[in-house]
Amino acid sequence: MNILVLGGAGYIGSHFVKKALEANNQIIVIDNLSTGHKKSLPQNIKFYQGDVRDEKFIDNVFKKEKIDACVHFCAFSLVGESMKDPLKYFDNNVIGAIRLVEAMAKHNIKKIVFSSTAAVYGSHDKMPITEDYSTEPTNPYGESKLFMEKIFKWSDLAYGIKYVSLRYFNVAGAASDGTIGEVHNPETHLIPIVLEVPLNKRDKLTIFGDDYKTKDGTCIRDYIHVEDLTEAHLLALDYLNKGNESNIFNLGSQTGYSNLEILNTAKKVTEKPIPVVIGDRRPGDPDMLIASNQKAKEVLRWEIKRDIKQIISTAWQFHQKHPNGYGEDEND
Ligand code: UDP
Repeated sequence: MNILVLGGAGYIGSHFVKKALEANNQIIVIDNLSTGHKKSLPQNIKFYQGDVRDEKFIDNVFKKEKIDACVHFCAFSLVGESMKDPLKYFDNNVIGAIRLVEAMAKHNIKKIVFSSTAAVYGSHDKMPITEDYSTEPTNPYGESKLFMEKIFKWSDLAYGIKYVSLRYFNVAGAASDGTIGEVHNPETHLIPIVLEVPLNKRDKLTIFGDDYKTKDGTCIRDYIHVEDLTEAHLLALDYLNKGNESNIFNLGSQTGYSNLEILNTAKKVTEKPIPVVIGDRRPGDPDMLIASNQKAKEVLRWEIKRDIKQIISTAWQFHQKHPNGYGEDEND
């Protein structure tokens, strides 16, 4: 099928593009390259540089290209930054979704798969989290994604645009062939940061808080390999192509690892010492997030093929091969 991938030069977007091409789809990518990397995409890809909030730009792409479905990855996604600058998140994420739906409605595109997040749930005591848990985000990033979900929900009723919202838990790892991986500048995510120590890019890891209500006091998260995650997007497109109703799915492994456990696994994978200090809590962090993935397994027939060791070892392989990221500009 002809898939318009919005935010296709980002970390998850570029891994989706790779998978979708391998599955013989035709891909058109839109990205404003604010955080994405052109070099994470195949050279001959159909690529439009621009912002999803730019009405004329989007309209022009929809006019020019034959599009069967959209997969929407463009969003800012840093919890800490969103606490300091909430309006940046509402502007980019929410306005971007509105402009996109307007263009889809105008050009009669009726299918979209989009990135949501576990951050829509906020803090819950009982794990794992099923899709029917209440949504009470503890940070503006999660709130902006919840707004996006609501925009798609009401747009389904009004314009008949069917959506699948995929609520990602913690995505990490890199393509198994080592060609693409996670490159953010600045990096804020735990796994790539841990690996910067054995790469000699930082001298120690700071774990943000050890007084959470968890077994070792550090936060617990549910990590999912980026290739398992992107496979779920192709299954979600199949699901929509079969004429199914709009739906929401968690994407996680249903297994939680504390920040200290991630550190210890990284030490084993890299076979290097990784010094650690405990710092202050990071505002907005819930104690624990673990997905129930039963619904995605049952309805989408999603399978998880890679475990935490593979997540960290593929990331380690990528970063060793690409110590300076994609080596192109200030977003390296
Ligand atoms: N974290 C940490 N030190 C770091 C980066 C992250 O202790 O340098 C913690 C963070 O506070 C959270 C967990 O690692 O408890 C996962 O954070 P990340 O930013 O990777 O993902 P998030 O859960 O915010 O989406």
